[in-house]
Amino acid sequence: VVRRDGRLPGLRIVRTVWEMKSCSAEERGKGHTIGLVPTMGAFHEGHLSLIGAARRECSFVVASIFVNPTQFGPAEDYATYPRPFDDDVRRAGELGVDVVYAPSVEEVYPRGYETYLEPGPTGNILCGRSRPGHFRGVLTVVLKLFTAVSPHRAYFGEKDYQQLLLVRRMVKDFQLDVEVVGMPTVREPDGLAASSRNLCLSPDGRRAALGLSRALFRARLLVVEAGERDAAALKSKIISWLQQDRLCRSQLL
Ligand code: AMP
Repeated sequence: VVRRDGRLPGLRIVRTVWEMKSCSAEERGKGHTIGLVPTMGAFHEGHLSLIGAARRECSFVVASIFVNPTQFGPAEDYATYPRPFDDDVRRAGELGVDVVYAPSVEEVYPRGYETYLEPGPTGNILCGRSRPGHFRGVLTVVLKLFTAVSPHRAYFGEKDYQQLLLVRRMVKDFQLDVEVVGMPTVREPDGLAASSRNLCLSPDGRRAALGLSRALFRARLLVVEAGERDAAALKSKIISWLQQDRLCRSQLL
């Protein structure tokens, strides 16, 4: 039964850390297994696959929606990041989510906030190199989500593979009692990984982005079928394929 505001009965929106903590304590007390799906919202098929897995494997599902300012660099898209909150809540309800945890920025980082989690060397390569401070923000907010929600299991996508590894590392290093579940990357029919930011791509930008996944799939063929094991050779092949593509050359390189 859908109510007049479009929300399904049973779905609860929680806005504060303490309400989230008491809700989780109550559900744990009833013997529920709590599954957490941390997101920044603007749901797409990737998020839905994580929520679906949590729904199948846990008896109480919390999806968090929080656009975390501390993981965005000063020149990044924090202000323009898509925030279709009402649509997300509707879809969460349809998927059987029990709680949407959507705290405000002031709730997560109140005045005077100053404690952050610093990733190890794994945080300084790849994405960490081009986005200084990004994973520091990610790990800090994930730890804060874990302490607020106290999940038994937390679901992350392999699309953000470095993030998944860093979260696993944090859980191990801090001996947290959370099982981290990694889920395969969901792709659009043409091969582009589903992403909230795909909405922001121009038609040329989207075609160029597709060049990246195409090049990666081509490189995978070289590994799997031709037995190529030389990472530097693969990298230079990928760069030359991207350079041959006019759009990729102008938009990516
Ligand atoms: P985001 O809202 O972009 O922070 O993503 C929330 C979670 O969904 C993260 O664990 C992402 O890795 C995961 N995710 C995002 N896109 C995909 C995708 N295409 N396939 C699988 N998981 C995804």
